[in-house]
Amino acid sequence: MFVLSGPSGVGKSTLVQRLRRDLPDLHYSISATTRKPRAGEEHGRHYFFVDHDEFERMIADGALLEHAYFAGNHYGTPAADVERRLAAGQDVLLEIEVQGARQVRAAGSVGPEAVLLFLAPPSFDELARRLVGRGTESAEVRAARLDAARAELAAESEFDHTVVNTDVDAAAAALVRLMT
Ligand code: 5GP
Repeated sequence: MFVLSGPSGVGKSTLVQRLRRDLPDLHYSISATTRKPRAGEEHGRHYFFVDHDEFERMIADGALLEHAYFAGNHYGTPAADVERRLAAGQDVLLEIEVQGARQVRAAGSVGPEAVLLFLAPPSFDELARRLVGRGTESAEVRAARLDAARAELAAESEFDHTVVNTDVDAAAAALVRLMT
């Protein structure tokens, strides 16, 4: 089990795309979220987009391996799919924020074997520039995400490895090396 984490805007989704291309046997876990889809995002491909009641139901049913509230929305990893893949000997990749990574680490079933990978920006200013540049959030949401980013950056030492995303090719190569 690999967990890729790091602050919003650091480039996790881009790196995940590269990892899925370069490591075709890797199973990428699709999360559930109460966030509204961005342009181009599809239900079942980028996320399972659910409403608040459905998310609460998943928690109550114990259907989530981990879950967290992040910048105004809920996010969680459906457990059954991940557990089935791991039991079948397949490598699984989660792309989640830091609170979720901590829960995975603490989970008796998968935690001890999970490899926690932290994707860091070259600097905080560069992270802020990227968040503005991608233009997917309002100023208010961006501020909430940058706020969360400060706390997330402080959690780096809890991870097994850090990769600094200065250059996407180099960061992807470093992650592939670590994972293989
Ligand atoms: P976004 O709204 O930008 O897609 O995601 C916001 C944050 O939530 C990102 O840091 C992303 O990695 C994280 N995230 C996505 N899915 C999950 C999940 O299942 N669990 C947790 N804890 N975080 C998630």
